[in-house]
Amino acid sequence: MSTAVSTSVEQIRKEFPVLHQEVNGKPLIYFDNAATAQKPKAVLDALSHYYEYDNANIHRGIHTLAERATSAYEDTRKSVGKFVNANETEEIIFTKGTTEGINLVAQAYGRKFLKDGDEIIISQLEHHSNIVPWQILADQTGAVVKIIPINEKGELLLEEYRKLLSEKTKILAVNYISNSLGTINPVKEIISLAHDAGAVTLIDAAQAAPHHPLDVQDIDCDFLAFSAHKMYGPTGVGALYGKRRLLESMDPYQGGGEMIKEVTFEKTTYNDIPYKFEAGTPNIADVVALKAAIEFIQSIGYTFIHDHEELLLNHANKVLLDIPGMTPYGQASEKASVFSFNIDGVHPFDIGMWLDAKGIAVRTGHHCTQPLMDWLRIEGTVRASMAIYNTIEELDIFAEALKDIVKKFKK
Ligand code: PLP
Repeated sequence: MSTAVSTSVEQIRKEFPVLHQEVNGKPLIYFDNAATAQKPKAVLDALSHYYEYDNANIHRGIHTLAERATSAYEDTRKSVGKFVNANETEEIIFTKGTTEGINLVAQAYGRKFLKDGDEIIISQLEHHSNIVPWQILADQTGAVVKIIPINEKGELLLEEYRKLLSEKTKILAVNYISNSLGTINPVKEIISLAHDAGAVTLIDAAQAAPHHPLDVQDIDCDFLAFSAHKMYGPTGVGALYGKRRLLESMDPYQGGGEMIKEVTFEKTTYNDIPYKFEAGTPNIADVVALKAAIEFIQSIGYTFIHDHEELLLNHANKVLLDIPGMTPYGQASEKASVFSFNIDGVHPFDIGMWLDAKGIAVRTGHHCTQPLMDWLRIEGTVRASMAIYNTIEELDIFAEALKDIVKKFKK
């Protein structure tokens, strides 16, 4: 799997042990990929291989296992650097995930450089992870958070965004792809406009990494954060890309082992990037397995991923839109494989539970985007988010299951 180019979804499915089970007496259909994706054998093998053969703490030991663990950990850094097309490997910092990456930037950059009256622009589409860290920063510094509005299709209103930009704008932070609606945002243009205003830019790429090639030099973002678990890798690990110049100007995020050059009780000097931002023993095994997830995606290729997921989204629109009482949310012209909806007269939680009884896993609720749900004037949606291993047949079963639920509730 790691080297062969796979062209068959059937072959890809074989790589995912978890998919081959029954749930509540039915074959599992997993449509909760935007929450977390399932893991291929290569990732599971990388994890167990690490613990079976190489486990040691990194950077400090001179014994063979410590050297092996260190080189596996640092190999992933190189791999992530290439994955996002960073200029230098040192621009990659390992984190717990997207949330920690954004908090790191808010605290280590924002707290140092923002002051009373400065402005931070985010959008109506953001996940709580790209809202709350900026609110905390605003409370700490007196900065103000401004919101890019959206249209009915769930697209950012760029003309309104232009009006928000001024010399007061210090940070622009938006997602690449919306987790609730699937909107793919024109981040290159958004970043360029923010740079013209003199702002620093952060891209939340949590939902982009599994679906869309990342190229930090092309889009020219200053920071970009993503999580391994949404791109077929393990939970509890992710990466933050930051431009060297900015990372070097920032204060450390946390203090502890590994992030220092020298400690005395009088004064501590900090390590170089990226280690300055990696205090304490990191999540070594999961970092090592992230490399296997990247290789898995590369073995399939984003072109195949894009084409297959587009096929799934088109089919979802075909079989789901005419279900009685169906209200879809998010009809952006550039959209990832997410189908968010409600059905008149049935609570999303009830739909989720009835689907689960049929072995179908979807997400229900606000999807950590409460301000977006408020804008839509709803409590939440049912969200089917599709991945590379999902099939047309699964969507057909899903559509039939929804029709049964509608019939049941209309009785
Ligand atoms: N941003 C977006 C768009 C997301 O979808 C998510 C997770 O759902 C996050 C941020 C947070 O990711 P994590 O919980 O892996 O830190």
